[in-house]
Amino acid sequence: MKKKEKQIETSMIHSHQNNSQEYKGSLTTPIFQTSTFSFASAEEGAGRFAGEEEGFIYTRLGNPTVKVLEDRISTLERGERGLAFASGMAAVSAVLIALTKAGDHVLCSNGLYGCTYGLLRMFEDKYDISHDFSYMETEEELRKKITAKTSCIFIETPINPTMKVIDLSMVARVAKEYNIPVVVDNTFCTPYLQRPLEHGCDIVLHSATKYIGGHGDVIAGLVVGRKEFMDELAMSQQKDIGGVLSPFDSWLLLRGIKTLHVRMDRHSSNANKIAEKLSHHPKVKKLYYPGLENHDSSAIVQKQMKTGGGVLAFQLDGSKEEAQRFMNQLKLIQIAVSLGDAETLIQHPATMTHAVVPEEKRKEMGIGDSLIRLSVGLESVEDLWDDLELALNQI
Ligand SMILES: *Cc1c(COP(=O)(O)O)cnc(C)c1O
Repeated sequence: MKKKEKQIETSMIHSHQNNSQEYKGSLTTPIFQTSTFSFASAEEGAGRFAGEEEGFIYTRLGNPTVKVLEDRISTLERGERGLAFASGMAAVSAVLIALTKAGDHVLCSNGLYGCTYGLLRMFEDKYDISHDFSYMETEEELRKKITAKTSCIFIETPINPTMKVIDLSMVARVAKEYNIPVVVDNTFCTPYLQRPLEHGCDIVLHSATKYIGGHGDVIAGLVVGRKEFMDELAMSQQKDIGGVLSPFDSWLLLRGIKTLHVRMDRHSSNANKIAEKLSHHPKVKKLYYPGLENHDSSAIVQKQMKTGGGVLAFQLDGSKEEAQRFMNQLKLIQIAVSLGDAETLIQHPATMTHAVVPEEKRKEMGIGDSLIRLSVGLESVEDLWDDLELALNQI
């Protein structure tokens, strides 16, 4: 009989957990705080270097604590191999370096994390690797943007901060015809809400700093894909470029993942309630949240996302100064970038996360001066609304 695959909630807690006698029965994964591993003999060391023998050599090449995390994220994303990096940007840069060479072209969703955009601009200046943006709303539009030089399609969905969603299976289907790998930055959803590999995409990555860590106390990145590509990534990006995650930070992520499903359910239900209330408030001109039934692409949301997630954005009926005054009135909600923490965080994209994007491009992306992004935390939704309502009524 085929072994039945466990449900994702169970895998978050148990998958690849090794509480064997080797670990003295420790229930949680021990932190192997070591840089190197000694060999029982010269021959054993030679065997490990030759890849003929299983076992660890040196922590940049692999570590038992880090490996449990890498195996677990791979199970959760339904991939073949996972790798951990020192930050979300280390994960993004590892994947983009591996997939491009001088002269290539990268096609992106029309909206990208600011530093991913900065990295692509550096690629353009230094290596003549160009990039372009697409709304990816229709197959025709996507096909028009693909060139003979396109070596990868890089997507964020929902797009930060305007929460537009992209149909992953449509993009994957078109990309297959051209044999172009599709990379998805799944930071906003986590594998609990959306699993891009199940929709035909090739590589999924995360800033684990956000929901996966979940407590605002670690900077980390994760990548999952097919074994062949991930083996190459381990050799070129972890071994030779070297942005690996430490054993302690890996342990923090393992701890975070155990409650990921519970946290995501609460982030989502809190965000849903706040979005509902904001959408009816006279000071709010436009609300962006994929979980509301009247979202522009609710059919895509229902197809590929479990819930709308914990991030929403809204346009205030007012100027930049009024948006800033509103933020300054908040008492409970913290003004901070990042997202996915227990604390509710608010930020002003035009002057913070997207300040590096030229104004014209920003306007095209729908990031005006009165747009505000909220990462809804795990507090009582009643207290959160009281804080927001009081501040809204003072502008
Ligand atoms: C934060 C973030 C990143 C970068 O991650 P770091 O861990 O800060 O390096 C990349 N993509 C998205 C969507 C993010 O929110």
